[in-house]
Amino acid sequence: MPQPLPPGSVIGILGGGQLGRMTALAAAQLGYQSHIFCPEPDAPALQVTPLATVADYQDRDALARFAAAVDVITFEFENVPSDSAAFLAEQRLVRPDPEVLRICRNRLREKDFLASIGVETTRYAEVTGIDGLRRELRNLGIPAVLKTAELGYDGKGQVMLRSSDDAVAAWDSVRGHNPDSVAVLEAFVDFRMEISVVVARGVREQTACYVPVENQHRGHILDSTIAPARISDIAASRAEAIARHIAESLDLIGIVGVEMFLTEEDRVLVNELAPRPHNSGHWTMDACLTSQFEQFVRAVVGLPLGSPERHSDAVMTNLLGAEANDWEALLGDPLVKLHLYGKQEGRPGRKMGHVTRLGTRSSQLG
Ligand code: AMP
Repeated sequence: MPQPLPPGSVIGILGGGQLGRMTALAAAQLGYQSHIFCPEPDAPALQVTPLATVADYQDRDALARFAAAVDVITFEFENVPSDSAAFLAEQRLVRPDPEVLRICRNRLREKDFLASIGVETTRYAEVTGIDGLRRELRNLGIPAVLKTAELGYDGKGQVMLRSSDDAVAAWDSVRGHNPDSVAVLEAFVDFRMEISVVVARGVREQTACYVPVENQHRGHILDSTIAPARISDIAASRAEAIARHIAESLDLIGIVGVEMFLTEEDRVLVNELAPRPHNSGHWTMDACLTSQFEQFVRAVVGLPLGSPERHSDAVMTNLLGAEANDWEALLGDPLVKLHLYGKQEGRPGRKMGHVTRLGTRSSQLG
């Protein structure tokens, strides 16, 4: 069994966004240092640690210097090029393994992986051209959702098709987003609720699973997370079992957010995996014994995982764009915890911070 890296060790984090920032803060609490690698000189994570390499993700010299300066490497951003992750893994321990990144950064590979381990998703097909799109639309039916296989997030690079007349415009739009990439056509899921489960897995193969939560979106961007999800015990245990099975099948050392659709019949279909802390896990910072960020750090440095138990129920709401300007009013509510990410420019739709409103702990609703 590998020994944990001792406090004082340096965790290299690829990506400098709010997830890296909150990971670095959790690492500091446990006595670890964080070294951020990202291309943006004004990234939020750079404000909370002095150790940084600001360079392109493809810059081999910078990657080599970064690897030499840290004790373990992880990522907060799954669009790091796979060959850069593999290059780093030749020189330093990378957790989770770059293979996890390779699977999860491509929607098609991810869905094929889920199918291979017996996890149900919506029906889907690979699409590489307009003729193929028309054919698969006939197979999968209308409505359907066309998504780029790579580099899509927060609804970017995806289009809903409500009629076969939408095919040309949908194909142009998805190709415009990422011309090199193939696309995935998915049968539309008439879901009752979107839920997610965040699960950590450590070096001793133990897992720590947070309670399933309910996610509400606004314009394809997560608006709020209600913890716990208002679902049956059966649906909740099904969702947790699926998330654990995924973490085990990936042989994950780290944390993964599993996004799922819950149907009227309590079927759970997995939509997407994010092998890093997840926006729908931010509530754990204020409402659980161990936050998702601390759990992630513990897994990456090889410490035992903490308890994921929640002491309060919570509703997390993202602050997008100018909503973060209301910080003073938000702070006036004693049950609200405010988190701001230190971003300068509050462009519409940009995640500037979040608030968690705490409530009394309930048992899961039956
Ligand atoms: P994604 O980028 O895959 O997370 O999708 C963003 C959002 O689009 C999801 O959270 C859903 O609200 C919606 N969506 C994506 N795929 C489907 C689908 N196959 N059926 C219904 N809604 C979907």
